[in-house]
Amino acid sequence: MATVTSKTGQAVERVSFDSLLKRRLFYTPSFEIYGGYSGLFDYGPPGCALLTNIVDQWRKHFILEEDMLEVDCPAITPEEVLKTSGHVEKFADWMCKDPKTGEIFRADHLVEEVLEARLKGDKEARGQRIEVDEAKDAKKKKKVKDIKAVKLDDAVVQEYEEVLAKIDNYDGKDLGALIVKYQIKNPGTGGDVLPPVAFNLMFETNIGPTGQLKGYLRPETAQGQFVNFAKLLDFNQQGMPFASASIGKSFRNEISPRSGLLRVREFLMAEIEHFVDPEGGKKHARFDEVKHIELDFLDRNTQLEGKTNITRMSIGEAVSLKMVDNETLGYFLARIHLFLLRIGIDPKRTRFRQHMANEMAHYAADCWDAELQSSYGWIECVGCADRSAYDLTVHAKKTGAPLHVRQVRDEPLKFEQWEVALDKKKAGPKFKKDAKAIDDALNNLSQELLEKLSLELREKGKVDIELPETERRVELEKDLVTIEKHQKVIHTREFTPNVIEPSFGIGRIIYTLLEHSYWYREGTEKAAGDTEKRGVLSFPPIVAPTKVLLVPLSNNPDFKLSLQKLGTRLRHLGVSSRVDDSSVSIGRRYARNDELGTPFGVTVDFQSVKDDTVTLRDRDSTKQVRADVDTICNAIKSMVDGKTSWADTQKELPEFTQQEVD
Ligand code: AMP
Repeated sequence: MATVTSKTGQAVERVSFDSLLKRRLFYTPSFEIYGGYSGLFDYGPPGCALLTNIVDQWRKHFILEEDMLEVDCPAITPEEVLKTSGHVEKFADWMCKDPKTGEIFRADHLVEEVLEARLKGDKEARGQRIEVDEAKDAKKKKKVKDIKAVKLDDAVVQEYEEVLAKIDNYDGKDLGALIVKYQIKNPGTGGDVLPPVAFNLMFETNIGPTGQLKGYLRPETAQGQFVNFAKLLDFNQQGMPFASASIGKSFRNEISPRSGLLRVREFLMAEIEHFVDPEGGKKHARFDEVKHIELDFLDRNTQLEGKTNITRMSIGEAVSLKMVDNETLGYFLARIHLFLLRIGIDPKRTRFRQHMANEMAHYAADCWDAELQSSYGWIECVGCADRSAYDLTVHAKKTGAPLHVRQVRDEPLKFEQWEVALDKKKAGPKFKKDAKAIDDALNNLSQELLEKLSLELREKGKVDIELPETERRVELEKDLVTIEKHQKVIHTREFTPNVIEPSFGIGRIIYTLLEHSYWYREGTEKAAGDTEKRGVLSFPPIVAPTKVLLVPLSNNPDFKLSLQKLGTRLRHLGVSSRVDDSSVSIGRRYARNDELGTPFGVTVDFQSVKDDTVTLRDRDSTKQVRADVDTICNAIKSMVDGKTSWADTQKELPEFTQQEVD
């Protein structure tokens, strides 16, 4: 049974954690009354608020902080664009079919699932304890028939572990070979599966009524940003480096999504394309601000050795050792880490894993994933790739659009160059239809050859050149051709920028944050036999869906006015609040909102009506302070903005010690 480890180290079965999330309507399967469809989810009110707050923080942390240029482009994308980018040909996963049952498996997940199950069986047979949250990436949780307490040879255990450490590095052929070698079968039935075939993950559609213009729902927001490069560069007054950013839905027809929000078919992405000059080592002007930040790295070489050991070092060191390719990539890894930390992700359950060669697109220079650990194992939640100049180059080549930068050089570039010229007036009548091929051949000669030919022309009065693809040679007399050395001065430089791309899947981050924020209190009536676990979601106030719960002590009509005034005051401060005036006890009302992650509670009582004071409760410690309404509202505002903490508020305001009534 999969287990969620709470932030305080408590273990809860994932089914009960999931049921909390469903009960409180964070998210729920889409179209459930029709039976539900895999990989599609709806966010309910607290889920929507959490998502909005995380996206808001993302905008502040990246777009505002770095002056990025935000764009919003269509999800419907013409086929031509995605053909050029390589997605039509290559955006695929490997799938295997069980021909008897018709079941489809993602080939890498199938190999992983079966080998992990066998390793567990081996541990059981050896009488070893099986860790509930094994650090391995256990993306699947289906019962595997293969789990039997069977002891394996030590060499086999080592081999399996090595395969698992490198699982992302295998292509379809490799996976097929592993399936045969390890006799991997359908885990449910034990039946054979067919060799892996590529399955393109894009959803196809038609644009317009004719059905002739094919399109796809975009699998990433990146292409919309690349095709706008020239306009954005212009908007940025030719300033380099700069970054664009986009927040929007992407679509992937995942082969068999079974991990809740972690693998879905429609998800919100937030992507940055940072355009940088490839010359000069891709330095970053603000790298010094982050270079001291320490991260947990799982580098490529460690994985290729079949291990998953972590190396902790500062990003400055990682870049100077060339483990991380360049400063700009390193800068973004550190900024990604700071963002995740800010919204409440547990740094101890965060690591940066480098892609192995086969895993990376052929054009990429380096690529790291921010992986977050949850009950599903280590999952990529943010990708950060150096895509080199690939995307801009292919789109420019296809369309002829000037997707490059032209800069005035500080110092003009001076050099000497051999130049060749054919006298076309004479060559035309003499060579007729061959004249053009001769001209092309001359213009394609290397500097070295031109130098040699110029000598020949001077000495023999003629040169002999080959016409490519025809194997013919032609002789050119010196009245037809000149080859001379010229002084050149170039004032501008043209280059295609390289792109560093941090790419965030907001849904994956949300789910992991939910797990990382979760813990529970034992019910206070435990002595009387109540062992109910009261879940708490300790979101940082900046991302919590609702910031303040307003509770009247009872339904005395006098409290209504005070509550209204409080709500209005908080609203004016931009702080969201909710009233709970249900008839259950205050303790129960607070418990309900602890599950929703509401960080603060304000109670209005008889004293409030008399002197305008209220109590303020902290979700995590359940401690309370008391002060007048203005002071309390300002304290809340400051905590919600992340400027002060509860500890600061507690120091400033008098404690209120009355027990919560359960
Ligand atoms: P990729 O372009 O595959 O590196 O994906 C970029 C980010 O999108 C990943 O780091 C994930 O956070 C997110 N992502 C990719 N596929 C899915 C999916 N099927 N469901 C949810 N999030 C996804």
